[in-house]
Amino acid sequence: MADRDGVIWLDGEMVPWREAKVHVLTHTLHYGMGVFEGVRAYQTPRGTAIFRLPEHTRRLFDSAHILNMPMPCDKDTLNQAIVQVVRENGLDTAYIRPMCFYGSEGMGLRADNLKVHVMVAAWTWGTYLGNQALEQGIRVRTSSYTRHHVNITMCKAKANGNYMNSMLALQEALACGYDEALLLDAEGYVAEGSGENIFIIRDGVLYTPDLTSALNGITRATILTLAKSLDLTVIEKRITRDEVYIADEAFFTGTAAEVTPIRELDRRAIGSGTRGPITEQLQTLYFDAVQGRHPDHADWLTVV
Ligand code: PMP
Repeated sequence: MADRDGVIWLDGEMVPWREAKVHVLTHTLHYGMGVFEGVRAYQTPRGTAIFRLPEHTRRLFDSAHILNMPMPCDKDTLNQAIVQVVRENGLDTAYIRPMCFYGSEGMGLRADNLKVHVMVAAWTWGTYLGNQALEQGIRVRTSSYTRHHVNITMCKAKANGNYMNSMLALQEALACGYDEALLLDAEGYVAEGSGENIFIIRDGVLYTPDLTSALNGITRATILTLAKSLDLTVIEKRITRDEVYIADEAFFTGTAAEVTPIRELDRRAIGSGTRGPITEQLQTLYFDAVQGRHPDHADWLTVV
């Protein structure tokens, strides 16, 4: 990733991609205390546009606030930096990664003498789980790793260190021959995927876990809005893994994963074992929205 052409925004300046480096004593590298976002830009009839940029920026600032990291810039500056990075790298579609991290001014856990740095990189990143996954769905395994307890790490923060848990779960699932992991919360209820929120459908009703220990996904919020336009009943509640087994349909949502059908959990086929009809409708509406074909949701797009 480091050896390529392009520019990265770092602390207010555009830096050549290969020169956007940090010192080995960078504090966040040692303890994982940092916050980040994953944002996507799509090609739309009005040109390249970033999907729900203000919401992502707001969540980044919320994450920093939760971790007590003083942000060195304001939201407008960051929004402009993100637009500029996509533009200056000449990207038609992009995955955008803003990240805030502590510098190398000192070590130790007090972290009271550290500068907060902000970077934004963007590159082309196709379908996270593959095009086939979007059509046929993926095979998922309930993880042996528990999702963060609300009082261990902060689940509302998209914090760097939280992703150790996600990676352990995903790597376990992949090693066992599955595509993705489903993590349960500390009480055994369904929380989320390693980098996705989950939805299930039974008898035409859409269910998703409440946000106690899952990230407040922007794709999740988008699906909740789009579901209203289909007049679907939506229920946010605790969900058990066997409710997923007997669902008619299930899917993951995320900026990277978009809307990915789940065709199997723990070797139990979900519904017909393929993408379900309501999943397909919501997926179509989602791609219409991100690609600027949904007239009601033009305000979700920031044209670059
Ligand atoms: N949960 C986790 C743990 C994630 O990392 C992500 C990806 N940011 C999501 C859910 C989905 O969030 P969003 O739709 O905002 O990308």
